[in-house]
Amino acid sequence: LSDRLSGVFERLTKQGALSDEDVKTALREVRVALLEADVSLPVARAFVKAVQDKATGQAVTKSVTPGQQVVKIVHDELVHVLSGDDANPGEMKIDNPPAPILMVGLQGSGKTTTTAKLARRLSQRNGKRVLMASLDVNRPAAMEQLAILGQQIGVDTLPIVKGQTPVQIATRAKQQAALGGYDVYMLDTAGRLHIDDVLMDEVQSVRDVVKPRETLLVVDGLTGQDAVNVAQEFDGKIGVSGVVLTRMDGDGRGGAALSMRAITGKPIKFVGLGEKMDALEEFHPDRIAGRILGMGDIVALVEKAQETIEAEQAERMMKRFQKGQFSMNDLRMQLDQMLKMGGMEGLMGMMPGMGKMKGQMEGAGVDDRMLRRQIALINSMTKRERANPALLQASRKKRIAKGAGLEVAELNKLLKMHRQMADMMKKMGKKGMLKGAMKGMF
Ligand code: GDP
Ligand code: MG
Repeated sequence: LSDRLSGVFERLTKQGALSDEDVKTALREVRVALLEADVSLPVARAFVKAVQDKATGQAVTKSVTPGQQVVKIVHDELVHVLSGDDANPGEMKIDNPPAPILMVGLQGSGKTTTTAKLARRLSQRNGKRVLMASLDVNRPAAMEQLAILGQQIGVDTLPIVKGQTPVQIATRAKQQAALGGYDVYMLDTAGRLHIDDVLMDEVQSVRDVVKPRETLLVVDGLTGQDAVNVAQEFDGKIGVSGVVLTRMDGDGRGGAALSMRAITGKPIKFVGLGEKMDALEEFHPDRIAGRILGMGDIVALVEKAQETIEAEQAERMMKRFQKGQFSMNDLRMQLDQMLKMGGMEGLMGMMPGMGKMKGQMEGAGVDDRMLRRQIALINSMTKRERANPALLQASRKKRIAKGAGLEVAELNKLLKMHRQMADMMKKMGKKGMLKGAMKGMF
């Protein structure tokens, strides 16, 4: 194993980092993939440019080609742009009952269907009492459509009164929601084939009456380019808090999602995946990214290669530890890891045989601040000193401590700890305990 490994790492150092040329070649293909997925040209251009700056100079994972590596970087960047800063895309502001949710969008985009799907989700999953009302006074049978869906999913709809204006219906829904003790009321508005002033005026006056907590724009995910214009219009005139992309069960590649997010900055909250009432999912940026790029197999390949490398690195490290080769760099890595894992407690608990040391460390007042000071000390050592702490005589110690702004005594403590850990690793290696102990750490 170690023979093969050293060969591999030689290759890695030779292959080194992504060159300008590698990145450019790969990004040409990525650009084509984006445009084919219906991402708008300016967005594709800006996106590729951003990735180019990010990718050049990055290390190439062994056993993948530079091109594959770029694809993975592109994928990660897509996910990043698609998700923005939202941790929970499907979350909605529905406290302070009754919370109005306004559904807007063009005709045929899937507003009525999505209204019912969301109502079902809110009632079944979140246990909310939901009232739905159709404000669509234009299309014959539009109100009945919503009432039928309501019956199907067991959600109340506002009784139909013919001859009322959308604002009158919205007012009635608001009153009914308050009187009936509903948590949420959802207003399904009428759409038009194209955006026009009449539609926008109508939706605006409804908005002003109910002051929606969420205004969700429903967009047909197959419309690509147009979706962005629609989103900009609605956001400018009405103010949109989130987007629902419908028909993502079709074979469109979903580039609209990227354009829309990049241009309007509005979070995509849900995705419609069919006509059935349960065909609604919260937005998963990685799934859409995979679709847009259409190179899911490459992404998976690179991820696998990266995992393998991590496992191999851990194995290599363990072999060294068993031989008692535990450098200051190793120690620093462990300290970093401890910080990441929330301090000493977690890590020490994971390593058998650490119990005694844990007690000692606690006695010595080891905490995160101490970890940071220790890391600073190691950072202040030269490369040679880190590899071979035996070099550290008085003058070097002074220099290192000064560099970290600390006392030599503190450095001595660190050195002692390092020796103890190296000893322990060696002993554990002999007893065959090291592997198990290290498992929890990676
Ligand atoms: P509205 O005019 O915006 O209210 O649109 P509707 O809700 O009436 O939907 C128009 C058509 O699109 C209906 O036949 C729906 O069943 C269908 N539809 C809505 N959402 C989806 C979806 O996510 N996937 C598929 N395949 N069809 C959908
Ligand atoms: Mg409708």
